[in-house]
Amino acid sequence: MPSSLKITFLGTGTSSGVPMIACGCEVCTSANKKDKRLRSSILVESEQTTLVVDTTPDFRYQMLRENVKKMDAVLYTHPHKDHVAGLDDIKAFNYFQKQAINVYANELTQKALRNEFYYIFAENKYPGVPDVILNDIHGAPFTVGDIDIIPVNVWHLKMPVLGFRFNDFTYITDANRIDDAEREKIKGSKVLVLNALRHEKHISHFSLPEAIALAQELEIPQVYFTHISHQLGLHETVSGMLPAGCALAYDGLQLTMP
Ligand SMILES: [Zn+2]
Ligand SMILES: [Zn+2]
Repeated sequence: MPSSLKITFLGTGTSSGVPMIACGCEVCTSANKKDKRLRSSILVESEQTTLVVDTTPDFRYQMLRENVKKMDAVLYTHPHKDHVAGLDDIKAFNYFQKQAINVYANELTQKALRNEFYYIFAENKYPGVPDVILNDIHGAPFTVGDIDIIPVNVWHLKMPVLGFRFNDFTYITDANRIDDAEREKIKGSKVLVLNALRHEKHISHFSLPEAIALAQELEIPQVYFTHISHQLGLHETVSGMLPAGCALAYDGLQLTMP
């Protein structure tokens, strides 16, 4: 019997976040809290285990906002800066837990982490730098504590990106294409999160119409869209246009998955 999970959306914005620095558009100046989107990430909690998918540039604030007191693992989708930049702040969990934090990533992301956070992986480390253990995700399901995880390979233009299925909840960001064999891993999910950048087509992200079409094709009863750009429009306006079973995610949204 898999343990029930609490999912918290730490951020639902695209790489520049919403509002975007120096932008005066109606979305970026909206007073609605749901139009404030930090960079995309989710927190997944069971009774015993806490993990985060990606460490965004907003990671520190996201941990403080949600009052996260422990971290068992970080799962990475891909090495773009908006998904990895916050790794340095994992050091607070090292400090209080007095142990290394397990990081799970594909080969491409591991290589980027070793480059971009060279000091974490140096032979002679400066005191106080993050302490992490890299674990390879090579396609097979794996377990973190009492949470079972099925990795799903998706495409971000030509970059392989990992989505993750936890029980009947599947989280996919930064994709614009999913092969048939990988779609099979998503089918049967009760909740699916998909990236939907904006209305117009984009080279490496699903547009809103593409994400809606995919959700319907996969016959998922409840779909949430994330990794949203200010170009998508106001949360309230866009939410009112979506078909049944589709909704925009927003920062702080929580779901309980049996
Ligand atoms: Zn991204
Ligand atoms: Zn990306």
